Amino acid sequence: MQKEIEKEFFMETFQEMVDLLQEINWDESEKGFLTKLLKIAIKIIPEAECGSIWLIRGALYEAIVGIGYDEDLIKEMVVPFNESYVSNHMDTDLIEVQNILDYNSPETDLYKISKKLHKETNQMVTLISALKNKDSVIGHIYIDSFHVDSFDDNSKKMLRMFSNLASIFLTLKILRDSEKETVETNSNYLSFISHELRTPLTSIIGFAETILNNEDLKEEEIKNIVKKMLFSAKHMNALLDDISTFNKLNREKRLNLEKLNLKKLLYEVLSMLEPTASPDVEINVNFPVDIPVDIETDETKLNQILVNVIGNAMKYTTEGSIDIRIGYESHTKHFVIEVKDTGSGIPEDKLKDIFRPFFRVSKDKPGSGLGLAIVKKNLEMLKGSIDVKSKLGKGTTFVIKIPQSISSIVDKC
Ligand code: ADP
Repeated sequence: MQKEIEKEFFMETFQEMVDLLQEINWDESEKGFLTKLLKIAIKIIPEAECGSIWLIRGALYEAIVGIGYDEDLIKEMVVPFNESYVSNHMDTDLIEVQNILDYNSPETDLYKISKKLHKETNQMVTLISALKNKDSVIGHIYIDSFHVDSFDDNSKKMLRMFSNLASIFLTLKILRDSEKETVETNSNYLSFISHELRTPLTSIIGFAETILNNEDLKEEEIKNIVKKMLFSAKHMNALLDDISTFNKLNREKRLNLEKLNLKKLLYEVLSMLEPTASPDVEINVNFPVDIPVDIETDETKLNQILVNVIGNAMKYTTEGSIDIRIGYESHTKHFVIEVKDTGSGIPEDKLKDIFRPFFRVSKDKPGSGLGLAIVKKNLEMLKGSIDVKSKLGKGTTFVIKIPQSISSIVDKC
């Protein structure tokens, strides 16, 4: 009899999974895709009341979507990966945890947020199941219940089975997204070589011909033309620099970790870039005295990140101000670097594209469209992240988060 119920239960649930998975749209954003996966997981587990999906984002373990919980609170649920509950259970496919709140110390921000989220309820049971991309764990599904002491065995089997299926879907989606990106990058690469690099080269040829074909040019006139040639040659050189950095990034996987002084590095970058800023732009830096200055990271990569983001703020701001604020989040042990400008801004619908290689909103200013792609790639390697907010005509704010020390995280992951 028991076997019959089990069979029926699985058949029904399976059918439900198949129907719901049909709804998945492969081109959906990560969040949309994960929300659907979570809805399906909650629907098929009878005891489930609420749930969330957590992903390992570099050094952080972040709640990406939540169902049955306050969305704004979910956004704040983030802990350093090496302090997260599951970092000690990475090899376990499924864990059941009673009152996960007990695990968080009442001092931490996460405890306070969790407490609000669970509306003072202490009695809670959570089933945590791994999500994988091929063989590596990339996150977890959390399923919560407030009315049972433990999930039923069938539910556990169900969630294990569902997570395996969801992992296959996730792996396929990640593969599809990266293949799409590769095809696009290759075609942009070719058009970059044939258009962008050719433009300054054509100017140089044109200027050289002017000098050669006009014997009666005065010395001053020749000097002016040579200045223009130099400008185009420098522009071409900068484009080639970007492309060579970008190519190297795709090959080099090793980090060169060392202890640095973040404040010193920031001021070095600023003194190098300052001459490129418009004289009508005020540059303000706020590095509070009561936060740490030591960081353990790869200097070349962090330097490239700062040069590209602050350099862009200077390039795309002709008047107003650039405010650079450094903060330190003690609960995640991350530095937060905010670069806010009052420049041209970026149209809302283009914000998702600016980190793609070769993408440029307009060609008014010189550039390769590789700067932010390099920033993103470097931050992935340094276990950091970047966010952007912008208003067209008003300005742009980039927020970079970077771990104070990545060696412990690199060892663990
Ligand atoms: P580029 O070499 O063109 O500057 P990036 O990859 O650095 O390339 O940036 C991509 C695009 O994002 C730029 O072409 C520009 O349109 C936009 N952008 C980046 N930073 C800013 C900023 N601070 N203000 C306005 N637009 C920006």
